[in-house]
Amino acid sequence: MIEISMYINGQWKESKSKEKRPIINPANEEIIAYAPEGTIEDAAEAINAARKTFDDGTWSDTPAAERASYLFKIADKIEEYQDELTRLETMDNGKTLREAGYDVGDAAACFRYYAGLITKPDGQTYHVGDPMQAMVVREPVGVCGLIVPWNYPLLMGVWKIAPALAAGNTIVFKPSEVTPVTSKKLFEIFDEVGLPKGVANMVLGAGAIVGNEIAANPKVDMVSFTGGTKTGKHIMKTAADTMKKISLELGGKSPNIIFADSDFETAVDYALFGIFAGAGQVCSAGSRILVEESIYDKFVDRFAERTKEIRVGPGNDPRSEMGPLVSEEHLQKVLSYIELGKEEGAVIVCGGRRMVSNGLEKGYFVEPTIFTNVKPEMRIVQEEIFGPVVVIQKFSTEKEAIEIANHTDYGLAGGVFTNDGAKALRVIKKLRAGITWINSYHPTYNEAPWGGYKQSGIGRSLGTFGLEEFQEIKQININLQVEPIGWFEN
Ligand code: NAD
Repeated sequence: MIEISMYINGQWKESKSKEKRPIINPANEEIIAYAPEGTIEDAAEAINAARKTFDDGTWSDTPAAERASYLFKIADKIEEYQDELTRLETMDNGKTLREAGYDVGDAAACFRYYAGLITKPDGQTYHVGDPMQAMVVREPVGVCGLIVPWNYPLLMGVWKIAPALAAGNTIVFKPSEVTPVTSKKLFEIFDEVGLPKGVANMVLGAGAIVGNEIAANPKVDMVSFTGGTKTGKHIMKTAADTMKKISLELGGKSPNIIFADSDFETAVDYALFGIFAGAGQVCSAGSRILVEESIYDKFVDRFAERTKEIRVGPGNDPRSEMGPLVSEEHLQKVLSYIELGKEEGAVIVCGGRRMVSNGLEKGYFVEPTIFTNVKPEMRIVQEEIFGPVVVIQKFSTEKEAIEIANHTDYGLAGGVFTNDGAKALRVIKKLRAGITWINSYHPTYNEAPWGGYKQSGIGRSLGTFGLEEFQEIKQININLQVEPIGWFEN
């Protein structure tokens, strides 16, 4: 049994409530760990530690190259513990070992990327009208509250922690209450590399309690949140009272547009990966496939054929290609959307049920599910289901494809498949979405910005933009002619 603690001011701590939450392996419903159920007081203690450490300059005054050397050491340690972290992520979240392995590799690379970036030149100088040297410098924002979801427990944390620490901020990190296991290991690594106390703090517990305190507490300067759009709106409102800087990475209902002139098998293959990777629990999932009329029937047939072949099973079985959903609660949500789709009149081409036989009697497994005969206003077309459920829509013209693609409140991601280069770029440029692919779907790079339009969020993670989120911009004006200004005559 794994025992998890909070990490505050360099010390492992239990919750002041003494309460613990069981952490469940979604592949077999067994308890794998107990995690403290944090309180408002626990969150406040972590925030105070981060505040004090930021204000005394322990971290922000440390030369960038020295901060970078900690980040490089963290990356090395993540690689040293690659197998353990991969195994733990699979056990906690359910994803396959292959998926978890990629996440751990990306996490190490993310720390290295920001370690390198923070020592590179930044800032600007300006030619202004007076004998003045005007310039801009970048400074850390201060105490950053980082709140993340359960779908990429390690990686979503690292996307925030690496740039926040590189920039010189101190942090209070809150993983999802459902998946705290790899976060524990990550903070053990911080401890092992000797990160100064108070720089990185971790609190655990319910979002409405611990997370809400992070968003509300006046000693926090910024909240960087990844999670559902509804929670994001709540955080934005709460953070407004103290005018915190915010960054929000929220949900999606992303279109994957397949034109008749695309490479057919490539399009089918990526469409499959686009929706069923991570059992559809991916914010950028291509959960709406839009197919040109002339190949629609052929596409649905082939896509269904491939979907039925997906091997669903426990993530730690190397034969499994798709794992379970993360929790009983989430399973019920996804199943209720499938019922809703039927009630709305959509047709199930394949899937649609919980899997309860052939060794899957325990665990939260759902068949990969395809809906056709959908209408634009149906809730299964408009709302994020966040499971292995896809809707396939038909279009006849480029204009119609763009209209359908943009017809949701979300604007996170999107893909276009065609061998006509000009058409591909025309359509991509019309998509109201922040992350897009041409003849591909899903690959994500530490070097390139990640984030959404519309109700999919505010701000960007990764790349240089992801560092700037955690920086303030200060203008400095240096008078080159030191004499009275003489504005007032006497
Ligand atoms: P969620 O919004 O329920 O929870 C996310 C985090 O917020 C958790 O740590 C939770 O404890 C906390 N939280 C909940 N209520 C809170 C409150 N009132 N105040 C402060 N914190 C609170 O999301 P989830 O179910 O864990 O994750 C799934 C969602 O995350 C999906 O909508 C998905 O699209 C989104 N997501 C987005 C991205 C992206 O990059 N845009 C990436 C991954 C996941």
